[in-house]
Amino acid sequence: MLAPKPAASVATEDPVRVTLKSWFGFDSFRPGQEAVVRDALAGRDVLAIMPTGGGKSLCFQLPALLRPGVMIVVSPLIALMQDQVRLLRDSGISASFLNSSLSAREAGETSAALLRGEYKLLYLAPERLLMPEFLQGFLPRLREAQGISGFTIDEAHCVSEWGHDFRPEYRQMHILRAHFPEIPVFAFTATATGRVRDDIAAQLGLRETACHVASFNRPNLHYEVRPKTDKSYAELLARVRGRSGANNGSGIVYCLSRKRVDELAGKLAADGVRALPYHAGLDAETRRSNQDAFIRDDVQVIVATIAFGMGINKPDVRWVVHYDLPKTMEGYYQEAGRAGRDGEPADCLLYFGVGDIRTAEFLIAQKIDPSSGEPMAAEQRLARQQLRKVLDYAQSLECRRVIQLRYFGEEYRAPCAACDNCKNPRPVEDWTLEARQFLSAVARLAQRGQRYGAAYVIDLLRGAETQKIIDRGHQQLSVYGIGKQRSQDEWRQLVRALLHQGIVDETEDAYPVLRLNVASLEVMKAQRQVLLAPQPKPNRSARSRDEAPTLATGAEALFERLRALRKQLADQQGVPPYVVFNDVSLRQMAESQPVDEAAFMTISGVGGRKLAQYGAVFTAAIRSYRGELGLPA
Ligand code: ADP
Ligand code: MG
Repeated sequence: MLAPKPAASVATEDPVRVTLKSWFGFDSFRPGQEAVVRDALAGRDVLAIMPTGGGKSLCFQLPALLRPGVMIVVSPLIALMQDQVRLLRDSGISASFLNSSLSAREAGETSAALLRGEYKLLYLAPERLLMPEFLQGFLPRLREAQGISGFTIDEAHCVSEWGHDFRPEYRQMHILRAHFPEIPVFAFTATATGRVRDDIAAQLGLRETACHVASFNRPNLHYEVRPKTDKSYAELLARVRGRSGANNGSGIVYCLSRKRVDELAGKLAADGVRALPYHAGLDAETRRSNQDAFIRDDVQVIVATIAFGMGINKPDVRWVVHYDLPKTMEGYYQEAGRAGRDGEPADCLLYFGVGDIRTAEFLIAQKIDPSSGEPMAAEQRLARQQLRKVLDYAQSLECRRVIQLRYFGEEYRAPCAACDNCKNPRPVEDWTLEARQFLSAVARLAQRGQRYGAAYVIDLLRGAETQKIIDRGHQQLSVYGIGKQRSQDEWRQLVRALLHQGIVDETEDAYPVLRLNVASLEVMKAQRQVLLAPQPKPNRSARSRDEAPTLATGAEALFERLRALRKQLADQQGVPPYVVFNDVSLRQMAESQPVDEAAFMTISGVGGRKLAQYGAVFTAAIRSYRGELGLPA
């Protein structure tokens, strides 16, 4: 493999730094990367837990270049392998994969090339690795011929039954240890729970492991929860069209069911948005082509169930909208976390409505053991606990980051400056007294065996002289008129909040009536406070135009032009646009406008190979843009 010219800007002779710039185009490490790289270079077993977008790939790819031999990388999905190999090759790094997408002849050629030392990295699925003829035949020959620099287990949470993507084949990976005791094992995952971490170390038989746990904070992500209303769709549309002042660009909308996915994707398409659906009900070919269209920027939006995600390495997803309530906090963190892998600002928005609680509870009640027809009590209990956490997140007035990170056992100090609650702290009001008045009215009516809806109870509290109240003699009740001090709207807001916070229940009939529950009793017994955020004024939580990440005037137009150039070059090579350059690189080009090689080399993501391949065409585009504006080229 031909080493590219080291960058002129790399002053240090440290081979790690030189490799970082000349092959990967980066001037500095992301947090946590360097320590992992150094341990891997030293040949220690490594377990690295880093969030999505933390830059785990580099942590084994860079050591693969500096250590003798071939790095064997185990990856659970063909799409992931192909993506990484494409990215590596576009940086001039010789890498290949062996999987079922290859014919026997192609696989044979790849194997021969490996033995000749033509590749530094080999990606494969665990099934392949574990085949006896591979494990006991090919790998020992490869070790003999070229050496093996390490076994990398990417997405290592797949070994754990506690993880969200358990794959039984991953469980046999410990045989690597028996056959190749001297070769270090490097395990990577974005799964944060302690149980999964311990399981990985045990299952893979890691020794004297260098364990690296990075923070799970994703500082470039902006978190927000908005009430789900009949305006939510219009808001989504404005975002997609870039009219809301928020990040537009590529985005994912997550919905609860296949039906909702199809409906929403259809609606967006009818409104002229380039959007496609993705869910397990579509055939494999349609799923693949829809996913490809998204990755290649042929469509802007993917509307999906949670079936979509694993295997999506698209770094420039600018926003993720949850149109329905997620089932677990971990799920939310992972799904929202697919935004902004490239470290550029991105938005994570959750729409939340009272109806979502009912739907979630309904789905939990459906968890029935198919053989006995009995409810699955343990599953239901777990699902309820998880729902509770999600509701706490959605309804909280606390910093969203603090809540998310606390869930993973990490302490974060608010305010964070990039969530709705920190940017627009809503003063909290104590409505416990009113809540007690309201609940006692419901209780008083229930004692008489009478159940009513919220509107009637509000009339009663406000001392309204309606015909119904008079007919029923409810003016005699002690609660009649005790709530005059609050307006009808204020009472309505309180009731919404009580329902929202699960402090009172409502039946699902055509004329819903109120029912007390355990939480109601806690409030009535003064064991629980009821806090309310004043209603947000319309749009106060939306970011204003000038807060959104924008480029300097003029740079915006150049950015768009470079983006079109990137797409054209990518299509010519049949690769996704981000393989050519990611958004960070394009933005830097649009801002600093390099017109010669030396300046171009200072752009993040530009290494020796990228300079050779793309330097001339991009600097030419920048020169012509500047020329049109009469600027010196
Ligand atoms: P992970 O596997 O941890 O989710 P990736 O390895 O896919 O993350 O990296 C995410 C993005 O971060 C990629 O676009 C990659 O090019 C970029 N990246 C990685 N390391 C650096 C770095 N040191 N400087 C700048 N960008 C980086
Ligand atoms: Mg990864």
